[in-house]
Amino acid sequence: MLISPRLEELIKALNGLPGIGRKTAQRLAWYLLSADAEIATDLAKTIVDAVQSYAPCGVCNLISESDPCPLCASADRDDSQLCIVENSGDVHILENMNEYRGRYYVLGHLLSPLDGYGPEELGIPKLMELLAERKPTELILALKPTAEGEATIHYLTQIFTEISINITRLSTGIPFGGELEYSSALTLANAWNRRYSVQ
Ligand SMILES: [Zn+2]
Repeated sequence: MLISPRLEELIKALNGLPGIGRKTAQRLAWYLLSADAEIATDLAKTIVDAVQSYAPCGVCNLISESDPCPLCASADRDDSQLCIVENSGDVHILENMNEYRGRYYVLGHLLSPLDGYGPEELGIPKLMELLAERKPTELILALKPTAEGEATIHYLTQIFTEISINITRLSTGIPFGGELEYSSALTLANAWNRRYSVQ
């Protein structure tokens, strides 16, 4: 009774965000409704503005305000290394690590056939084009070591077995099932520096 269908819709939308459980979603929804109306409308406007000004980079898929993105456009990145990540947030985390000066490719999602993400959804042809153009010597698979991450690493390794390129993955310093974004900077840097060849 207290939760009308409209409020339920707001709770569900918030609950759909990563890291927001049902209870937190309810707390946030009540907060937004109880607080000064400007707080919620300003937040909604900020979200719409950001969403409308950001789009995937035509080269690497990184969500960016410019196309190509600043990382693809930069002349002082090292073309010999290409790092494959799941999403744009991962690029941000790896950049903060300050260890890597190569290029990126954002898959958008991991292999998860049950959720409708099969090999066709990974954008492999675009990745192949990038490999042909930049000719990196190392392909770094910086994917989280979950079941989907492992399946994706296995699949990509199979595809690129014909190409003469060193394929590496991060060491399992990241706990199994852990998200790239939740590991500490030091753990991530360790996993990065102890990455190993998968062929
Ligand atoms: Zn880019």
